[in-house]
This record gives sequence, C-alpha cells and structure tokens, in this order.
Amino acid sequence: MFRNLIKLGGCLGLLSSSTIMCNQIRGKNDDDQLPHYHFLNDHDLQKLQKKHTNLSIIERSYTEHILSVIRDVQTDIVDFRKNADRLIRILIEQAISQIEKKKHIKQSPLGYYDAHELKFQDEEICFVSILRSGNAFLIEALKVMTGASIGQILIQRNEETSQPSYFFQKLPQNIKDQQVILVDPMLATGGSASMAINILKHHGVKEENITFLTLVSCEQGLSKLFSEYPKIKIITAQVDPILLKDINYLAPGIGDFGDRYFGTVKRNQAQQ
Ligand code: URA
Repeated sequence: MFRNLIKLGGCLGLLSSSTIMCNQIRGKNDDDQLPHYHFLNDHDLQKLQKKHTNLSIIERSYTEHILSVIRDVQTDIVDFRKNADRLIRILIEQAISQIEKKKHIKQSPLGYYDAHELKFQDEEICFVSILRSGNAFLIEALKVMTGASIGQILIQRNEETSQPSYFFQKLPQNIKDQQVILVDPMLATGGSASMAINILKHHGVKEENITFLTLVSCEQGLSKLFSEYPKIKIITAQVDPILLKDINYLAPGIGDFGDRYFGTVKRNQAQQ
C-alpha cells in the first residue's frame, strides 16, 4: 500500500518537489523506482540532541533490530505487533528512568541496601493516548504501571486542509497533579501532539510534568514541539530523515502505524 503511495507521489511529481532534505536520498533500486533513504549519522544526531536538550533518543543497539523488522513492508501483523510492543516497552522504561526517585533503606534477604524507588505511586502517573494509534501503548503501559490512569484525546487530520481537528477528550479530574506520559507512535508535523499538549496545559498540567513518547519522529515535528513547549521531554527510538510533505508521512517510516498495528489494512495489501 505504502509502496503504491510513494509511486503515486512520484507520478504526481509530489516527491521531488516536496521532500525535505532531499540530499538524504541517495541511489535507487534498479528494479523499481523507490528511493533509498539514509538515516541521520552520529554527528547529525549529536547536533540534534545538543539543540534539544530535553530530547532522548534511545541508544541504537537496543532498537535497530526491532525497528528494522517493523519498518519492513513484508512484516505480517503478528511480528509487527510483537516488535512494536517490545519497542513501546523500551520507551516506557526509558520514561520511567527519567522520573524522580526517592532514596530509602530497605532490606533484602541478606541485609540492608539503598533503595531508589519512584517518588510517585502508579496513581500519580497518567498515560494520555492520542487516538487511535496511541492506544497501541496502553497494553505495555498497564503491564508496567497497573494502577496508572489513562486519558484519551481524539485528534484527526483533516484530509483536505491537512490541519489537525479536535474531536474528543476524556482526562482524569486530577490530571494537573499527575506526571503525564503522552503517547503517539509517529511524530510527523507535530500538529496533533501540539494540540494534545495544549489541551493538557488547559487542564493545568505543567509542561515540565509532560513526557512525550514517540517511536519514530523527524526534525520538523521535534522542532515544532520544543519551540512551542520548551519544558516538555520527548523520548523517541529513531529520527527519520524525511517528512514527505504532501502526505505527511515519515520516510523510510513505517507506513500507517495504526493500520498495521490494529489490522485495518488488508492482510496482503502492504506487499502489493
Ligand atoms: N502517522 C503514521 O501512521 N505514519 C507516518 O509516517 C506519519 C504519521
């Protein structure tokens, strides 16, 4: 499906005029007209992390196999879900590692030790999912923090204007006192995430209490969010080199994450 989308983009002359950082695309497979995308190198990534001090990119060795599997157009729903869940779990653990800890003395079967446990109870943590794809995070989130609250915000992109439109929200009443972990697997333009953070702020959540988790991001989305909300934290597994402007997809990307995770694309459509 996504292959056809790219071909269509090429036919319509969209890709050449709209790709950002086109110099990142080098070479083509001889047998088809698909571009070969190259990831940011270590130097580019360091520059990005210097620019955005609240950005964490998970170390590549933890994520490269998993991301390689879920990006693959041939990966079926079983392997897609299994590997997406693994990556989501890594991001959630990273978010937890950044939450403040309290030190106290505890006892093991053999003696005493310095314990460093989360300062917050599960009930003081709220996962907020940007529907629909953000819901993919909830299974792993509740395995790790069974007592956490769940908030949901439905924002959808208007196909004609490409602008995000707000539809629905359900958030805990005490969200302003909670540590909020906002989740959406793909950060493209940043329009939906920006709207979601704005809603959270209207509910009294402090920027510094918001951590945004996203599996794959791009420079444009990161810059937008950090320029609007400089105190939030963002954790991502990888920063893709290209945002395809007219369709707002990341490249090489994953395709439509929600369709692949929730099985709303025809089983063999991805390979057509
Ligand atoms: N949402 C997706 O599912 N994929 C993208 O590449 C961008 C946004």
